[in-house]
Amino acid sequence: MDAGGAVSTLEGSDDSTETSSPNSHPQTSPGSSPRPGRRRRGGRNRRRNNANSNSGAKAPDSDQQASKQAPTREQPEAFRKLGVDGRGLDALADLGFETPTPIQEASLPILLDGNDMVGLAQTGSGKTVAFGLPLARIVDTSRADVQAVVLVPTRELARQVGEVVVHLGHYYGYRTHALIGGTRLQADFDALKRGVHVIVGTPGRVIDHLQRGTLSLDSIRFCVLDEADQMLDIGFAPDINRILRSTPKSRQTSLFSATMPTAIARIVHRYLRDAERIEIDPEQRTVESVTQYYCEVEDRHKLQTLRHLYEEVGLGRSLIFRRTKIGVDQLTSRLRAAGVPALAIHGGLSQSQRNRVMADFRSGRLEFLVATNVAARGIDIPDIEHVINYDIPQTAEEYIHRIGRTARAGRPGTAVTLVGPWDFVEWDEICSTVGKDSIEFLPTPVRWD
Ligand code: AMP
Repeated sequence: MDAGGAVSTLEGSDDSTETSSPNSHPQTSPGSSPRPGRRRRGGRNRRRNNANSNSGAKAPDSDQQASKQAPTREQPEAFRKLGVDGRGLDALADLGFETPTPIQEASLPILLDGNDMVGLAQTGSGKTVAFGLPLARIVDTSRADVQAVVLVPTRELARQVGEVVVHLGHYYGYRTHALIGGTRLQADFDALKRGVHVIVGTPGRVIDHLQRGTLSLDSIRFCVLDEADQMLDIGFAPDINRILRSTPKSRQTSLFSATMPTAIARIVHRYLRDAERIEIDPEQRTVESVTQYYCEVEDRHKLQTLRHLYEEVGLGRSLIFRRTKIGVDQLTSRLRAAGVPALAIHGGLSQSQRNRVMADFRSGRLEFLVATNVAARGIDIPDIEHVINYDIPQTAEEYIHRIGRTARAGRPGTAVTLVGPWDFVEWDEICSTVGKDSIEFLPTPVRWD
């Protein structure tokens, strides 16, 4: 199937799952009230490119799926004020979004105005819509070439971002395809041959197609680097450089990252032009919405503590973080042996295994998902109730990122960190960043002395 807006390889090579219906989107409630992000304007010679040139885009071609009818919900006026056009407002109304999140409020005017932008923000902040709407508007559907590319670090994130981009495609009439590792190449060849306007992909697979000559980025007008710090951590820097060099200099570029290490600053300097920078305060993001606890517990008593939390405190759907793949596998086996429905997710699993695990977790069949940091990047399941830091995060940033998997889009959430007697360097850093007063001590039966 090659419906307009379809992401044809979101779920491995199983093409039957390619389309996400806009009406099936789970989000129906608005996010928390907006807090304006701090915005620094880089604004020299601000570039006005043709970001709006597609605002009067034609109806989709005959081989594309018809654009969505306007939903019955009212268009969200708060987004109109930020420059979102009628189709975008309908798409947002269909998702049930009424109020822009801080990152959306800060970045939509910049991107819709055709400017480059750097956003210090994470998954969970609403950044997909923040770049998705400007991307949707720039695509000229009267042409058949690839005009926008979104690069993401992991397959899971590609899938998630792809869903939003596909959803918008239903309203703007463009076609999307996900280029992600671990999926059938033939499905890519077929989709690319038929014509795709927007690519959401992991750098490795995008490079693969560039090398094969099956993908051209000569007509790219809009480029997004999502979770850029994570892409660099994985080692994608050379691929990113190569991909960006294969696109025209006239493109509009935006980069989103939770942190801003020097390597990212270099990419910004090299590939973005007069980029405006916006930043959403991570402390605010976290502390305000997640109830945070910590338990003092030795390694050998951690499982018992988890059991206590499960049985006495009543843990609901939980994401449990461990530092290593081996640790993830060990804990998962122990939980399963104890009769707890748990599965593991880490980089050592195949794409189809990861898909199956995520589908089980989303559907609610699975109560505990045990994950490494990298695998959990970008996991977006709206009703994760608890995040458990079974192993302490190595940095405050990692802590913020992990606990940001819960309490999303205005829902309540809890994070529990198990702090061992040797974890005090990390724990002190975390406490001084997020504020010791915002993390409450939770007594457990076995505490170290
Ligand atoms: P993201 O950071 O783009 O992955 O978005 C995080 C979560 O927030 C997703 O579940 C989105 O569907 C949801 N979301 C994004 N923007 C809004 C909004 N304006 N109102 C309510 N929910 C939102």
